[in-house]
Amino acid sequence: MARKKEEVCAFCGRTTTQIYEATQKKPIMFRGLDACICSECVESGHEVLIEQRQYEYNHGAGISTALDDVMPPVEMKKHLDQYVIGQEDAKITLCVAVYNHYKRLSRMGSLAPNNNPDVEIEKSNIIMVGPTGTGKTLLARTIAKQLDVPFTIVDATVFTEAGYVGEDIESILTRLLDVCDFDVKKAERGIVFIDEIDKITRKQDNPSITRDVGGEGVQQGLLKLLEGTDVNVPPHGGRKHPDQKYIKVNTSNILFICGGAFDGIEKRIAQRLNTHVVGYDTVRNQLKIDPSDLLKYVEPQDLKTFGLIPEIIGRLPVLTHLMPLDRDALRRILVEPKNAIVRQYEELLRMDGITLKFEEGVFDFIIDETLKRKLGARGLRNIMERIMNETMFYAPSSKKKEVVVTLDYAREQLSAK
Ligand code: ADP
Repeated sequence: MARKKEEVCAFCGRTTTQIYEATQKKPIMFRGLDACICSECVESGHEVLIEQRQYEYNHGAGISTALDDVMPPVEMKKHLDQYVIGQEDAKITLCVAVYNHYKRLSRMGSLAPNNNPDVEIEKSNIIMVGPTGTGKTLLARTIAKQLDVPFTIVDATVFTEAGYVGEDIESILTRLLDVCDFDVKKAERGIVFIDEIDKITRKQDNPSITRDVGGEGVQQGLLKLLEGTDVNVPPHGGRKHPDQKYIKVNTSNILFICGGAFDGIEKRIAQRLNTHVVGYDTVRNQLKIDPSDLLKYVEPQDLKTFGLIPEIIGRLPVLTHLMPLDRDALRRILVEPKNAIVRQYEELLRMDGITLKFEEGVFDFIIDETLKRKLGARGLRNIMERIMNETMFYAPSSKKKEVVVTLDYAREQLSAK
């Protein structure tokens, strides 16, 4: 029987055996139409690419810093309105901060004669406070997409101070580099969304208390990134490269947007608004303020009493809030945004030639169930998925031209799981 012919890498010309003999590592052969390339060549290609990116960066090749490329705040908000329901205050604050941020960058990148060199525009990193599932991440993601800048989301809870189990703060930048194919210049104009910033707070609002490493230590690490510094970032790679070259990334022009639910912050706001009264309920009664409205009055000092260190608060000068979503907002979220959940299901079934309809009352039922779960709009998708799962399974084979989701069916599906 003839021996199977060994594949040869079209790049280095070696067979699997030859590569193994030279490296003591079993290579992977990536097959194309009529040639293949070995994992060794892919790896060296990756390194060359990173070096090339660094070279281009050092020699000034980059992307435009013209302000013309950025929409003014009013237009930016109109765009956001197509995807994010409500949250007017947050939208306006965010649009202004983002526009100012890119104005600042355009000044640095241009020699426009009308720039006043004496005025230095400071960075406008943002912090958004609001319950879970109300659109914090969605706002940041939509804005980044619109600006066409690299965007990444990181969860603050995975970070620990260097030397402890967990991720180093620098890995934030590895992720940002990853999404723009290691184009350092692009990454340096990107947006990083740091979620759950409230989970790395100091446990007590008392600096003399024994330091808690997971909280304050991480905040200290984050501080350098937020204020702008050169960071040596290990390039991302599935395996450990002992000789990996670090990539230098400057964070001065990266826009950081932090988000957190800050559960219970209303109580601190209430206390500040009426320091004489200790009980939350009493404050609510006295001020005649609905507790869900208290977030409107959030101020930096409330974040401090919550356990963010003052230096971090100082590096996040733009503070805004998101409101809990009421029935009306949830209903609109179901159907209005360009990629609303209902539209997504309609589109999926339309591809099978089926029209999807919902009986009166189904949306109200979904909203009731969502409100019960206290997950904000995130609950809508989960409930919708549970209701629609069986339909999505059977409908494509059913030859039906129309599917109507009735209230009884929705109830039955939800209670069945
Ligand atoms: P969080 O505030 O916890 O960051 P997200 O922005 O991740 O919440 O929201 C979760 C999901 O809920 C989003 O992907 C989106 O589908 C939906 N959603 C939340 N808030 C809104 C909103 N204001 N408008 C439209 N959709 C929303």
